[in-house]
Amino acid sequence: MQLGGFKPDDVTVSNVLGAYFQSRLVDEAIEVFNLIKNKDKVSWTTMIVGYVQNGKEEDALNLFAKMLAEGVKPDSFTISSVISSCAKLAYLCNGQVVHGKAILLGVDNDLLVSSALVDMYCKCGITKDAWIVFDMMPSRNVVSWNAMIRGYAQNGQDLEALVLYEKLLQQKLKPDSITFVAVLSACNHAGLIEEGRIYFDSISKRYALVPTLDHYACMINLLGRSGCMTEAIDLVNNMPHEPNSLIWSTLLSVCAIKGDIENGEMAAKRLFELEPLNAGPYIMLSNMYATCGRWEDVASVRSLMKSKNVKKFAAYSWIEIDNEVHKFVAEDATHPQTEIIYEELGRLIKKLQEAGFMPDTKLVLHNVEEEEKFASICYHSEKLALAYGLIKNPHAITPIRIMKNIRVCGDCHMFMKLVSKVIGRPIILRDSNRFHHFVGGSCSCKDYW
Ligand SMILES: [Zn+2]
Ligand SMILES: [Zn+2]
Repeated sequence: MQLGGFKPDDVTVSNVLGAYFQSRLVDEAIEVFNLIKNKDKVSWTTMIVGYVQNGKEEDALNLFAKMLAEGVKPDSFTISSVISSCAKLAYLCNGQVVHGKAILLGVDNDLLVSSALVDMYCKCGITKDAWIVFDMMPSRNVVSWNAMIRGYAQNGQDLEALVLYEKLLQQKLKPDSITFVAVLSACNHAGLIEEGRIYFDSISKRYALVPTLDHYACMINLLGRSGCMTEAIDLVNNMPHEPNSLIWSTLLSVCAIKGDIENGEMAAKRLFELEPLNAGPYIMLSNMYATCGRWEDVASVRSLMKSKNVKKFAAYSWIEIDNEVHKFVAEDATHPQTEIIYEELGRLIKKLQEAGFMPDTKLVLHNVEEEEKFASICYHSEKLALAYGLIKNPHAITPIRIMKNIRVCGDCHMFMKLVSKVIGRPIILRDSNRFHHFVGGSCSCKDYW
């Protein structure tokens, strides 16, 4: 784009930036942004929001730092986008700094900002602080209620989520479809099948909303896990929507837990059609066969994967130490302190073995999205991140907070539980599915994830 020759006003330039981001043309947007001589609040904010919309949260945070360094004053829109980035990445320290900035700017009570803060603290696993922000909000809309209800549900505080939902109804606010995803997942996790049915029915009967695929997925999960597989299958067959990959993958994972090969095969076949290059369903089905010793079927799924050239998804974990993020993959050897990290992990494993823990050498059934190397089970990325966290803050009593991009495997889950007991320190692990708060040898997910 040529900016020489004529002077587009700020709004025009921001519109152009916004249009590029809408079309996912991030590089083009950066080019235009760099050409702007006097960047104002609007153009900075458009860039930050654009980065967030395109999944470039790290870039959004870096740009925000530059914006402040240039002396441009952010507004509530900028701040809420930056807080959302911190939430997505679970960068608590960064999030707290931006919270402080919001207070200084006097925008912390803004509806957008405070709802983003509630969401950020929940996504960092600190529902206590989320509640403080929520409780102090001068006014709330359904977005803020949703952030808090969903936050409780994701953190295993299912009853708190449902109590808060009832309070929302007392306020005469109308729940929306996001509220119901949170409410149904709380029922699902707490195994409240009757309540789940009532809430699900109320979506259409009481609130005249059409249940979405997300709501159906929650119900299929709840019914399937509670042993009502026939009812779950009926629900899939009689949905008003065409079942999508979310529905089939929900059904497949329920079947994997229940060892229901027949329905599992059906769901997996649908997924092979819908997402032929997604490794998850292949691995899950192959693990189901392996569990009951059907090795020929295992081999045929593996060769199907090979023939379709299905690539596995890279798993990694990260931990934030002193405002810096450290990423690890399984058997990582790229970190500058690799040697010390492995020593620390070795010490931990030894401590656990003395306490009677043996690594889970069975199939890693929970690890459905990616197959981390079997031999490397002791060196899965979250274990390395944990060891690093312990090295950096050995005497702290605050929780160690780790993030992972896929679901945590059974062995790492057990490992984290025991470490939390042996070292007497809580560990919070956020995986792609939910939060795990490990305290004194048990987890908030009640081993249900
Ligand atoms: Zn693992
Ligand atoms: Zn857990």
